[in-house]
Amino acid sequence: MAGGYCVKCKEPREIVDPKQITMKNGRPATEGRCPVCGTRIFKIGAPDGAAKPAEPAAEAGEQAKG
Ligand SMILES: [Zn+2]
Repeated sequence: MAGGYCVKCKEPREIVDPKQITMKNGRPATEGRCPVCGTRIFKIGAPDGAAKPAEPAAEAGEQAKG
């Protein structure tokens, strides 16, 4: 489970609805919400579910349109 630090609660919180995003420098990051106050939590690194790092849009075929 992805965990982050809520700056509003000033405590480590579990990230609700974590989403993997890519920062401007190309590094993966996780963005979600605090389950207590709902403040947006930002954490450097990919979510726990993502085993492999975010590949750039180089290979296609992962999603087959039907
Ligand atoms: Zn909070």
